[in-house]
Amino acid sequence: MSRNERARLGVSLLRHRLLLPLATGFGYYLGAVLGVAASSMSEGIAIFWLPNGILLAALLLVPRRDWPLHLAMAVLAEIAADLPTFTLAQALGFAAVNLFECLLAAWLLQRVACPFALDRLRHVAAFGLILIFASGLAALLGATIYSLSIPTTTPYWDFWVIWWLGDGLGVLLVTPLLLSWLQGPHQPAVRHRLEAVALLAVILLLAVWIFSSVVHVADDFPRRAFLLMPLPFWAAVRFGVRGAASIGLLIAAIAITASLQGLGPLIAATPADTALLLQEYLAVLVFPSLVLAALLQELRDRNERLRIRERAIEAINDGVVIMDARSPDSPVVYANPAFEAMKGQRAVELLGRSLPEGEGRGDAGHAAARTLLHDVHADGTESWNELRVAPVRDTRGQITHYVAIQHDLTEMKRSETELRAAHDELDRLNRELEARVEARTQELQWANQRLEELASIDSLTGASNRRHFLEQARIEISRAKRQGHPLSVIMLDIDFFKSVNDRFGHEAGDRVLVALAASIHGTLRGADIFARLGGEEFILMLPGQDLAAACQMAERLRLLIEQSETPACPARITVSAGVAGLENESDEIGDLLRRADQGLYHAKHQGRNQVCVGQSSP
Ligand code: GH3
Ligand code: MG
Ligand code: MG
Repeated sequence: MSRNERARLGVSLLRHRLLLPLATGFGYYLGAVLGVAASSMSEGIAIFWLPNGILLAALLLVPRRDWPLHLAMAVLAEIAADLPTFTLAQALGFAAVNLFECLLAAWLLQRVACPFALDRLRHVAAFGLILIFASGLAALLGATIYSLSIPTTTPYWDFWVIWWLGDGLGVLLVTPLLLSWLQGPHQPAVRHRLEAVALLAVILLLAVWIFSSVVHVADDFPRRAFLLMPLPFWAAVRFGVRGAASIGLLIAAIAITASLQGLGPLIAATPADTALLLQEYLAVLVFPSLVLAALLQELRDRNERLRIRERAIEAINDGVVIMDARSPDSPVVYANPAFEAMKGQRAVELLGRSLPEGEGRGDAGHAAARTLLHDVHADGTESWNELRVAPVRDTRGQITHYVAIQHDLTEMKRSETELRAAHDELDRLNRELEARVEARTQELQWANQRLEELASIDSLTGASNRRHFLEQARIEISRAKRQGHPLSVIMLDIDFFKSVNDRFGHEAGDRVLVALAASIHGTLRGADIFARLGGEEFILMLPGQDLAAACQMAERLRLLIEQSETPACPARITVSAGVAGLENESDEIGDLLRRADQGLYHAKHQGRNQVCVGQSSP
């Protein structure tokens, strides 16, 4: 703990444990001396007992843990003030009764509100009732002490009434005054100083005038005590609880002082009657002004809260409109600036009119309702609003008003629409991309297929090329061996082709090659393979055909070629052919080609334009 903190704690302890309890004790003593010396009846019972008002205020102002100190000081003060008139036992008895009264009242008041302040009508009413109850109860005990310990002719109930009213009035005059001045922040500082001075002057003049002489009924202008009645109200209206309590105490001081000296309009037949009259007069004078001050304070607080809420309703962006449900068409009684802006109308144009059906008028039923409003305006723009309508009920549960709140959703709806459009566009682009990818994939597949074809086909004649033939031939041979089917090949070579080229040109030679390939193509079955081995040499593989069938086929081709005419070439074309068949399991394509080539060699050698079977090597 720093030195500063220790110093602060020391000051606080000094203040709460010593100075404040001492102040309570001193105040209690002064009040008691005043009560005993200045306002007591012949038996010593006080007409106005101020100390309880001081002690009650102290109990309501300090924390409960400090109560014992204040109570102890009050007991000491009571004894000090009472001893000149009463015995110690009597003084202790009175102290006990007074402490009981104050503790009971403080405990009950703090159950009403904690911290207790006289700023609510309810609080002032509770204050009055608890005061009557606690002082009435204490008066029973106090009057008993008097009756038992003091020789007197005054009846018990007279003691009781005077104690009761004396205590009650003391508290009524002092406690509100102390609470209102010491509770500080709850009360505004005194404004209108000039008016305060004027009020004081009027009271002093009027009170002194009223209470300064012995009143006779026959006076021309009787000085009546109730002429002062409006002044505490004036104080209450302009200066709150502080003003009312202060003025009340001032008038009480003047009235009591005067009445004790037999002056003023409140003098009755006996001193006891005078005391009662004075007590009643002051209670009636002070209490209503406290009620009025509290009521006004409450209204001011409520107005302040309402003002803040009204400002909040004016400031929000949602349109707020209030309709009177008790009139048949529920006319508008309030519209906030946001609602004016939404409608494009000023509040004065809306007030007293009813809104179109569906915009909050009477369709809320009995529970809060929500609807979505969609408007298309003259300029083509759209607006979306969420409408919430809530009924307002009075204390009997009857609907008196509807509060409609319009929340502008246009911006949100617009973003939603834009988002949806963007989403759709993205979807469309995605689909387009997918379609393009698919088309491109197909094109690639076609290109691949074409490439494969190109890689396996002879570009001049359209027959398979040598490489492709060899691949296919190996597959067919192994299949024929596996299935035990026959297989043959025919090797063809154009006779004297060099001379065709020489006589008609190389291009004519090419056209001969194309025509020859085309006519051979025309004779093929599905399983046959036809290829150009190179130059003007061709080969046919015939799966499923044995050597004899292949020879017949070769002979048919030879005849076909011999008899066909080629437009590009006037010369007749013949071919020689060598035929070979699959003979055993060890035969491969190389063996077949070699034997076919041997057959071809023989055909050429024996005069060309004929078919020869290639013999296997011995
Ligand atoms: P043989 O009867 O002995 O076969 O006589 P030939 O003239 O056909 O002799 P050979 O087979 O040796 O000659 C092949 C000729 O074929 C040589 C070449 O001029 C010609 N030739 C080879 N390839 C092509 C080609 O693609 N186009 C053309 N126009 N001629 C070709
Ligand atoms: Mg040749
Ligand atoms: Mg040839």
